[in-house]
Amino acid sequence: MNPQRKTEVWFLTGSQGLYGEETLAQVAGQSLQIQRMLADSGRVSAELVGKPVLTDAASIRRVMLEANADEACVGVIAWMHTFSPAKMWITGLDALRKPLLHLHTQLNEALPWQSIDMDFMNLNQAAHGDREFGYIQTRLGVPRKTVAGHAADPVVATRIDNWVRAAVGRQVIGSLKLARFGDNMRDVAVTDGDKVEAELKFGVSVNTYGVNDLVAVVDEVSEEEVDALVTEYCDTYSIAFELLKGGERHASLRYAARLERGMRTFLTRGGFGAFTTNFEDLGGLRQLPGLAVQRLMADGYGFGGEGDWKTSALLTAVKAMGRGSERGTSFMEDYTYHFGPGEPKILGAHMLEVCPTIASARPSCEIHPLGIGGREDPVRLVFDAAPGDAVVIGMADLGDRFRLVANEVEVVAPDEPLPNLPVARAVWKPAPSLSTSAEAWITAGGPHHTVLTQAVGADTIRDFATMAEVELVLIDAATTPASIADRLRWNQAYYRLAQGF
Ligand code: MN
Repeated sequence: MNPQRKTEVWFLTGSQGLYGEETLAQVAGQSLQIQRMLADSGRVSAELVGKPVLTDAASIRRVMLEANADEACVGVIAWMHTFSPAKMWITGLDALRKPLLHLHTQLNEALPWQSIDMDFMNLNQAAHGDREFGYIQTRLGVPRKTVAGHAADPVVATRIDNWVRAAVGRQVIGSLKLARFGDNMRDVAVTDGDKVEAELKFGVSVNTYGVNDLVAVVDEVSEEEVDALVTEYCDTYSIAFELLKGGERHASLRYAARLERGMRTFLTRGGFGAFTTNFEDLGGLRQLPGLAVQRLMADGYGFGGEGDWKTSALLTAVKAMGRGSERGTSFMEDYTYHFGPGEPKILGAHMLEVCPTIASARPSCEIHPLGIGGREDPVRLVFDAAPGDAVVIGMADLGDRFRLVANEVEVVAPDEPLPNLPVARAVWKPAPSLSTSAEAWITAGGPHHTVLTQAVGADTIRDFATMAEVELVLIDAATTPASIADRLRWNQAYYRLAQGF
């Protein structure tokens, strides 16, 4: 995670030497025009970096190896402007370790019916040049996204950006360091998993620290640092009267600030982009971290409750995918249902830790008792999530592989105010219905901890799954219980076969 470096996607143009220098210069110029159309759409959230037209195996292999090695490059777009005999792409594609998007397009939108001649046809033959390229990708089994259409079509630019965002998430999780303060909640199954396999599959490094290592850093925080954060809280949130300076519980707000400063310092020192906590293992911490976790999530840190490192890592990746979006992404848990009257809905929340990037309005900073954890009352932000389309995503370890389960949902305003609920929450209608969504999710073995995002859609999550070569079970408007049951059976066979013997 280095926000100073601009995210790049390399644009590779395939051709061959047969056409001569003059034609290749035309190819290069037209490729630039395509890149410019995409950039000018304003929809692609990475810098497109054009590379010289590729006409032989050695230069193709070289550029793929350079893409692998360049940290700023999150992925590669390839377009066969003319006809680029695909054997010369074999060793390059085989070497490529970055995500690949095959753009199937041509410069002219309209066919010049009156003037078209053989010269025009020979210059503009991506219609079959890209099919030759598609064949070799399929023959090699290269994971990729194929996007067909004209570069001026906003749908094409948007689909490319969905992939770009997935590639950013792939890159971020690929070098992520995750700190666990304590182990998993005892006896819980779905939050556990294979950390060795996760590091191989996704790149994320997951390690546990004694929670009192964190306590030592929290205790080092100076009163001046606490003062500065308390001022920031007062500028940013509506603070409960009892927490304000002079209020009888102001000390609790100051301790919450101390916790935030200490956690941030610990994470920064270790280069961590994600973390977990566990209420069963709080050592010398005086509060279960609530406000601190919420604010760290808002700054892009991944988080999972009860030691849930898989959700924490996934959250970091999805937050990176949503960068620059106005909408937010949060840790979430399916909590309780509204079966009716009216449309059935899910109320999602957690004990404390919901990210304020999904808030519909200025959060309220409050303190309430919490029996769980057995510590002092924790300070937290309370709010309703903003309405709008969202995706809920969870990750399970099935023993022989990871499975992502996702559900398209619509976050809605609560039917009535929730004056007695002392935590932030989101209310949503899952597609296609609460009953089918829940049946499908449970049949798929999806977890109860999830990532809820309004910043990216299911297309991006699908692209991410393709890049990571991990299973995705998407529950959407077209899902039926029978279709999911069939898909799970087929997937089981496919993924076992794909792993080899
Ligand atoms: Mn939980």
